[in-house]
Amino acid sequence: MPTIDYRQLYIGGQWRDPAQSATIDVQSPTTEEIIGSVPRGSQGDVDAAVAAARQAFDDPAGWSSWHPKERGDVLEQFAAELEARGAETAARVSMQNGMPIWLAQQFEAGFPPLLLRYYSDVMNGIQVEEERQGMLGGVSLVSRQPVGVVAAIVPWNVPQGISFLKLAPALAAGCSVVLKPAEETVLDAFLMAEAAAAAGLPPGVLNVVPGGRDLGAYLVEHPGVDKVSFTGSTAAGRAIAETCGRLLRPVTLELGGKSAAIVLDDADIAGSIESFFGATLLNNGQICWLNTRVLAPRSRYAEIVDTITGLAGALTIGDPLDPETKIGPLVSSRQRDRVEGYIAKGKQEGRLTTGGSRPANQSRGWFVEPTVFADVDNNAVISREEIFGPVLSVIPYTDENEAITIANDSAYGLGGTVWSSDTDRAANVARRVRSGTVGVNHYVNEPVAPFGGIKDSGMGRELGPEGLDAFQVYKTIYLPPAQ
Ligand code: NAD
Repeated sequence: MPTIDYRQLYIGGQWRDPAQSATIDVQSPTTEEIIGSVPRGSQGDVDAAVAAARQAFDDPAGWSSWHPKERGDVLEQFAAELEARGAETAARVSMQNGMPIWLAQQFEAGFPPLLLRYYSDVMNGIQVEEERQGMLGGVSLVSRQPVGVVAAIVPWNVPQGISFLKLAPALAAGCSVVLKPAEETVLDAFLMAEAAAAAGLPPGVLNVVPGGRDLGAYLVEHPGVDKVSFTGSTAAGRAIAETCGRLLRPVTLELGGKSAAIVLDDADIAGSIESFFGATLLNNGQICWLNTRVLAPRSRYAEIVDTITGLAGALTIGDPLDPETKIGPLVSSRQRDRVEGYIAKGKQEGRLTTGGSRPANQSRGWFVEPTVFADVDNNAVISREEIFGPVLSVIPYTDENEAITIANDSAYGLGGTVWSSDTDRAANVARRVRSGTVGVNHYVNEPVAPFGGIKDSGMGRELGPEGLDAFQVYKTIYLPPAQ
């Protein structure tokens, strides 16, 4: 298959030669072959990208000053250009990170245009400037202003979906953006830049500079940046928060998780197996909100362990480009080493009921079998640390209160689910789970509702009208009392 190679970077609305000649070579996690390359962004490229974004933002007649409807028209074009490239985007993501293609079509091709349209509508629906009659005489004009130049730093696991959690509200609000994709997933980001250019996004409103951790850190600290929006590991988020604290720079952090699925004693897991799979093992276990701790009542423990073991053991493992595949490879050999380290630990901490090895039918690629450990204590390492692979721990509990205590006994608080045949009962349990989001009998990132974490899962919210707030600041003008 021909490789996908780019030689220039999208900065300031143009394809420009990079400041240095180094490249990022993308290795397929399925075939282990090199499938493409892009220029490796350097500090000089970040300087150019921030300068272009700054110029676009500070232009008094530019993007930030446009009426929301005018920006909405361009974002509609952007959505249409993304849709025209949707199949290619999904395939590129799948080839780079192992995401099953049917999921890439939803998360990576379908979700971004939907978010652009949603945030155009939200922005059009809000009152940008409001007059408030004062209590001390005079009138206050209260407006929402775009926050400025945004540094958006994203991981490899859902590269397009996560990018647009930031880009859609930021662009709708009138911000300009420098996006730094993760090194593992760059080819989709360049396709997105092509869509932005074709849509007529004004120069500098969106700039893409791929690179690693050091380049990300350089971008976070850049004096031309007004706001940082980060999704990634808790360790990196902590380092970024420290920098932003020192700089007094607003920051949104979407970090790791170790969420719990609370299976109540009246749940029908066998009857909700697709949804249960979606909440626990989607994307080869590489999603931050997945419910990797399954809390099962002692009264039905053996049966629930059997059901989950059956689910995990029956998943089709294979080439992520095959529509039948449910579990593709992990993103990299490094990630597989990490997951296998946790599986070795799990063999000491729990009872392996399925998986635990590399699949026998895959001679190459970074595959790991979906793996279930039963009889795991909530204090075990595999219950406490984020594994980021297809590994579940089934933890027994005695009653509802104990289930909630175990669910809340975590450094993280991002997702979670409650499974029951009684929705009201489940919703009452969900209210007591300390987490940013909890699903009942399914889990989805619903565009209209805020998503994000507490504790080590981060701070701030994406999605919903709340997701727009992250890219706006309030401004007040005090008009004098009438003479
Ligand atoms: P990572 O933190 O290593 O990298 C994420 C991105 O940040 C990459 O672009 C990387 O180059 C950059 N980066 C790393 N260190 C940085 C630093 N100090 N300063 C600036 N940029 C830096 O994470 P990863 O391993 O690529 O992704 C997996 C992690 O992301 C998991 O912990 C997962 O839970 C988390 N995640 C969270 C969410 C969420 O919405 N909460 C969504 C997806 C993934």
